[in-house]
Amino acid sequence: MKKHNFFAGPSILPQYTIDKTIEGIKDFAGSGLSVLEISHRSKEFIACMNDTIALCRELLEIPAGYQVIFLGGGASLQFAMVPMNLMNTKSAYLVTGEWATKAYKEAKLFGEAVEVATSKDKNFNYIPKTYMVPADASYFHITSNNTIFGTELKKDPDVNIPLIADMSSDIFSRPVDVSKYSLIYAGAQKNLAPAGVTLVIVKEDILGKVTRPIPTMLDYRTHIKAESMFNTPPVFAVFAAQQTLVWLKGLGGVKAMQKKNIEKAQLLYDEIDRNKLFVPTVKDAADRSVMNICFVMAEEYKELEQPFADFAKSKGMVGIAGHRSVGGFRASTYNALPKESVQALVDTMKEFEKNH
Ligand SMILES: *Cc1c(COP(=O)(O)O)cnc(C)c1O
Repeated sequence: MKKHNFFAGPSILPQYTIDKTIEGIKDFAGSGLSVLEISHRSKEFIACMNDTIALCRELLEIPAGYQVIFLGGGASLQFAMVPMNLMNTKSAYLVTGEWATKAYKEAKLFGEAVEVATSKDKNFNYIPKTYMVPADASYFHITSNNTIFGTELKKDPDVNIPLIADMSSDIFSRPVDVSKYSLIYAGAQKNLAPAGVTLVIVKEDILGKVTRPIPTMLDYRTHIKAESMFNTPPVFAVFAAQQTLVWLKGLGGVKAMQKKNIEKAQLLYDEIDRNKLFVPTVKDAADRSVMNICFVMAEEYKELEQPFADFAKSKGMVGIAGHRSVGGFRASTYNALPKESVQALVDTMKEFEKNH
């Protein structure tokens, strides 16, 4: 039976990426060697790294003055690298979920981190809209898409201090005005590549302004200078990312992808809103994530949660269990997920409603 992959991360990749990766494992760029066994200093891999960076620049229209680097350690390492490299004595955080909370916690190790607003009072089911960002903070950190709670910031905040975003789960799903940000980071395993690499886009002129010593490996300038080759980069994950970006470009880029993603999300949200068995966890449509769609059983149908999970499984749905801090269900509808999979989930929900 066909499987519909709704996992939140690592998550579905384009068939193109899988096929090209299999080819690369057998013979990388005509080298006669596998991508798993070549030197990262080989001319073939240097070309791959350079092309992957160039594709990022092209697809996200990254302006001059910004550097693109690929690092290890996941998005979680960025929670610490950001304050270590950029925070003087104060920083500001919008705490909209579990990842944002973790980022905020790390910042406190380096000085005064200010929580400007949080949606914790309602289990992070909305995006706070009114808050004051301290003008003397080194930066303002946001999480553009809250993977676990299914909320997304649809508008770049307007602030007069450097803006930093964790875009792990919505990078490449929509256009981004990179010029509004001083640093953007994203673990690759949601929308780009298998786990193992993190994309960082950084405006060069924000670096070098803190006085604390920074370990070499944790200093962005090290990786900029070495063009992401200071030490051995995650060769395989970068190669796979290149394939995904080639695929994305072929489909018309992030703007075309955004259109598809909105259609997919609308299809599912419409059914959640219509179907009497289910309720959305994010009530305000303006805050609803286009990438991670969370819903629970309606109060009077709570006992149908496990039966629905079983039924969906029998229909080939994979990875729709909600995160333990939300419960219910979460369907992640990343770039590579075809609309047919969303339609299959909607059909499953309709059929289940009819049966009950
Ligand atoms: C998955 C995720 C992370 C954690 O990424 P790792 O690469 O596992 O450290 C951080 N932030 C967001 C928004 C995520 O979705």
